[in-house]
Amino acid sequence: MTYRYLTQLAGALRAADLKVVEVPGWKTRGRPASTGGFDPVGVLWHHTGSKDTNPKSIADDRAYAEWLAEIGRSDLPAPLCQLSIGRDGTVYVCAAGRGNHAGTARASGTVAGGDGNQLYVGVECQNTGSEGWSDAQRDAMVTTGAVLAELLHTSAQAQRAHRETSVTGKWDPGLLDMDAFRRDVAAELVTKERPEEPDPEPTRVEEIRQLLREALKHAKSAKRRRRLQAALDRLPSR
Ligand SMILES: [Zn+2]
Repeated sequence: MTYRYLTQLAGALRAADLKVVEVPGWKTRGRPASTGGFDPVGVLWHHTGSKDTNPKSIADDRAYAEWLAEIGRSDLPAPLCQLSIGRDGTVYVCAAGRGNHAGTARASGTVAGGDGNQLYVGVECQNTGSEGWSDAQRDAMVTTGAVLAELLHTSAQAQRAHRETSVTGKWDPGLLDMDAFRRDVAAELVTKERPEEPDPEPTRVEEIRQLLREALKHAKSAKRRRRLQAALDRLPSR
């Protein structure tokens, strides 16, 4: 059984220009190995639901992230995720080791079924699931997804919604179109690629051009728009 600690998380997220807050102790935090391994090959996306059920967590996003990292629920001990993303796009780093967020997972996309807490990095997005997604939060989610895809050496197809893996009828993250989300993560990954191939296949170049254009149409933040446009400009012309 493999049990990894993803101690590069905070540094990799910061390198992508995200606003990062580390919950102290995150590098050595995780469920004990007696509960299972941690060898993630995908990213599982959640919404937190209403905060009001957690007394310590109503105060603010940071307090909520600390509750996710350190306390959890009586029936579900912390950490409840590796990362949490606030409505303003701040990324809270909660744990480097195994979390309690996925339960048993059915196969989804490129990820096999099994112990979801071993297979996935869990991201709890602070959202009721019915309120919609602020531009700042969604853009931070896309960038975070791309950072994790790079770290795990996976494609955008390994980004899954809890509702896509749940065997108990979870519906999160609500109102997040996962196909559009995966497209945007794929485009973000392209912006990180350096044009190493001297002569890429013309059909591949056109595919990438379409992907970047589509993502650009939907990108909200100036930062992401600039990254996508710069990647488009680097593509060889027809
Ligand atoms: Zn969930």
